Amino acid sequence: MRYPLGFTLAQARHRAKMARAGQERYPSVLMLEPLYTCNLACLGCSTERYSGKLSDRMPVEQCLKAVDDCGAPIVNICGGEPTLYPELPELVEGLIARKKHILLCTNALVLDKKLFGKIAPSPRLLLMIHLDGLRETHDHVCKREGVFDKAIAMIREGKDRGYHIYLNTTVYKETKVDEVEGLCQLVEELRADGILISPGYEYESVRRERDIFLDREGIHEKFRAIRDFSRRYRVNATPTFLEFAAGLRELPCSPWSTVNYTPKGWKAPCYLIEGEGYYQDWSDFWSKTDWAYWESRDDGRCKNCKMHSGFEHSAVNEAMKSVGGQLRLAAWTIGV
Ligand code: SF4
Repeated sequence: MRYPLGFTLAQARHRAKMARAGQERYPSVLMLEPLYTCNLACLGCSTERYSGKLSDRMPVEQCLKAVDDCGAPIVNICGGEPTLYPELPELVEGLIARKKHILLCTNALVLDKKLFGKIAPSPRLLLMIHLDGLRETHDHVCKREGVFDKAIAMIREGKDRGYHIYLNTTVYKETKVDEVEGLCQLVEELRADGILISPGYEYESVRRERDIFLDREGIHEKFRAIRDFSRRYRVNATPTFLEFAAGLRELPCSPWSTVNYTPKGWKAPCYLIEGEGYYQDWSDFWSKTDWAYWESRDDGRCKNCKMHSGFEHSAVNEAMKSVGGQLRLAAWTIGV
C-alpha cells in the first residue's frame, strides 16, 4: 500500500460521506501551523514561516478547535518546525483521540530529542521528512552543513523504532532529475515508506529575493522525466497528478480540499497565497472565500502552481470519472 490502510480508507470514507451529503467542496486535509518558529531558514521557505517567536505559538485547544471546525480526516502539522512545538505530544494525542490521521512535516533535526520515546509510533502518524536533494544540494537548500546526514540518521533510527516515514522533496530550478531518482533509490535503501515530490512554488515573499523556482514549462520538463521513472519507486503522487505535473493534462484547482490554519487565522484561498487574507472564524472563511474564482486558476498567482495541496484532490476526482481511471487509481493505491 502507498499509505497505511487506515489512512487510505479514511479518505475514501470521507469522500463517500461528502458525496452522499451532496457536498462538492469539502476539506480533506487541514494544514495546521501551530508555530512559525524553526531551527532552519531554508532557501525555498518564506521568512514569516521560520522567524516567529516560540511564545507566539497557538495553544493546543485552539489547534483542536480548528480540527473540529473543519472536519478533515487528515491533519498535516507543519509550520515552522512542529517538533519545536512544546505541546506536540498533547496535540498528537488529541488528534488520535479524534481518530484523525497525522502527517508531521519535519526537517528531522531534533526527532531524537523531541519525538522518539515521547510520541509512540502509530499507523495514524506519518513522519514526512524534508529532503530536497542528496547531501550537497540538501545542505545548500537548508543553508547548513550536516543537515542531510542528521536527517538520514533520524530516518534509520525512526524505521528501527517502527515509525512510518516518507521523504518530502521539493523540486527547484537547479534540481537535477537524476538526483530526484537518487532520492527514490534512497527510499528503498532506508526502508522508508515512500516519497512525495512537489514542484517548488514561487511564494510571493520569496520570489523577490531568490530565483530558484520553476516556471510552468520547467515543471513540465522535470516532471516528464520524474513520471517516467516514478513507476519503479514508491512515489506518493497519483498517476493523474503526475500527468498534470508533466503538462499532459489540465485540472482545475481544489483549494478548499486542503485548508490552512495559521497563527493569523484561516488563510484564504490556500496554503500558498493570501489572495483574500485571513479569517478568524471557520464559517466566515468557508462561506466568504470565492472558491469558484480560485478553482478557475485565472489569478496570475496561480499561473505556475502545480502543488499537491491544490491539485491532488482534482486528480482523484478526474480518475473517478471512468472505470479505467478507477482501476488505475486502485492499482496505484495498493502499490502495483
Ligand atoms: S492554483 Fe495554487 S496558488 Fe492558486 S488557489 Fe490553487 S493551490 Fe492556491
